[in-house]
Amino acid sequence: AKSEGRGTYRYFEAALAVQIRDRRTLEHDLRQAIGRGEFVLLYQPQMEVDTGLVVGFEALLRWNHPGRGSVPPDRFIPIAEETGAILAIGEWVLRETCREAARWERPLRVAVNVSAVQLHSPAFAQLVQDVLAESGIDPVRLELEITETALIRDPARALATLGKVKALGVRIAMDDFGTGYASLSNLRAFPFDKIKIDRSFIHAVDINRETAAIMRAVLGLGRGLGLPVLAEGVETGAELAFLGAEACQEAQGFLLGRPAPIEEFREHTRLPADG
Ligand code: C2E
Ligand code: CA
Ligand code: CA
Ligand code: CA
Repeated sequence: AKSEGRGTYRYFEAALAVQIRDRRTLEHDLRQAIGRGEFVLLYQPQMEVDTGLVVGFEALLRWNHPGRGSVPPDRFIPIAEETGAILAIGEWVLRETCREAARWERPLRVAVNVSAVQLHSPAFAQLVQDVLAESGIDPVRLELEITETALIRDPARALATLGKVKALGVRIAMDDFGTGYASLSNLRAFPFDKIKIDRSFIHAVDINRETAAIMRAVLGLGRGLGLPVLAEGVETGAELAFLGAEACQEAQGFLLGRPAPIEEFREHTRLPADG
């Protein structure tokens, strides 16, 4: 039994060594990824529920790693946050999306995810201002998506930064609402323009009474605070019908469009042809 224990120990030690090495290579590769053009942005449509019109797109980052193929953001963004690489990556994302949005014939909104590390960087507000100036887009078209967890590291600093970017005319959305710790006080303390309800709350809303009750409560909260609500992760017609019946303003999800290269959405970004 003793030697067996040692074998198990060796096994875990070896597995851990592999994990550490794997992580080091990812960290290393991440630092070079921008320069090598390995990042791409996909866009997912955001729809106005009562009209069915696409009113904006959320930009979602993908990393095409030469050896590993597509690495999902949930895998590499935490590493980029720990190493600080997220600052350069986030800057690239912001610049790319605003440049892309400047090409659209329709002045649709573009939503960009902002990490806690970016939000707490002293240079962030200036970066937003510079990127807006470079691209020439109307600032109200840019929406920054920020999670509650991104606020709690240093709330005073986060508030100061958000105040500066809001003064530029940019909109701020609370992302993944309902999954953080202090949702309600954050809605009052920070200058949000929109609530994005996390996709765990829309799933099967049509058949689950508790889920429906939570959705109605959040929609009521939005109405009371004068903030539009967007439901994330809408996958079925029944879920969308629920949102329509409950007067939810906006929706996003696989039912309405999967994240894809912007070329696939040209019908929305272009003005209809004459004639
Ligand atoms: P998020 O901001 O909550 O983005 C929504 C995620 O839900 C996306 O995953 C999207 O593909 C997925 N999704 C959309 N509709 C549906 C649906 O109907 N059903 C299901 N099951 N999923 C749906 P993705 O693209 O893998 O991104 C994961 C997370 O990575 C994002 O969550 C965001 O937190 C982060 N992320 C993505 N791009 C960026 C970026 O440019 N910067 C930063 N800082 N974070 C990013
Ligand atoms: Ca988001
Ligand atoms: Ca979200
Ligand atoms: Ca999320």
